[in-house]
Amino acid sequence: MATIFTKIINREIPANIVFENDKVLAFKDINPQAPIHILVIPKKEIPTINDISSEDKELIGEMYLAIAEIAKNLGVDKDGYRVITNCNSFGGQEVFHLHFHILAGEPIGPMRA
Ligand code: AMP
Repeated sequence: MATIFTKIINREIPANIVFENDKVLAFKDINPQAPIHILVIPKKEIPTINDISSEDKELIGEMYLAIAEIAKNLGVDKDGYRVITNCNSFGGQEVFHLHFHILAGEPIGPMRA
């Protein structure tokens, strides 16, 4: 089912886009949890990690390549950053379109608050 992220892909609502290619889009999180908070999404609608299929193997690789490129472009690759994907209720997922959060710009702290 389409989510708000599909509307961002289709330019139906605005977003602060930092990266785009034919398969992947990345934009600033509207409610940042760190000085730099980017969401990296596939253009294909995949609701959760559980819905990734073997045909998506290359796409997931493309997403990680995008993450590394974005981190380099933003100058946070050397200091480092955290990549998070929440899944379903216990993971705290709110938008059911697969995404990686990139958190950067300061020490991100412990794995769990
Ligand atoms: P998650 O809880 O992992 O599903 O994360 C969803 C993220 O999407 C949250 O960090 C929200 O702040 C972010 N978000 C929701 N709507 C928008 C939007 N229109 N533009 C940018 N980020 C959004």
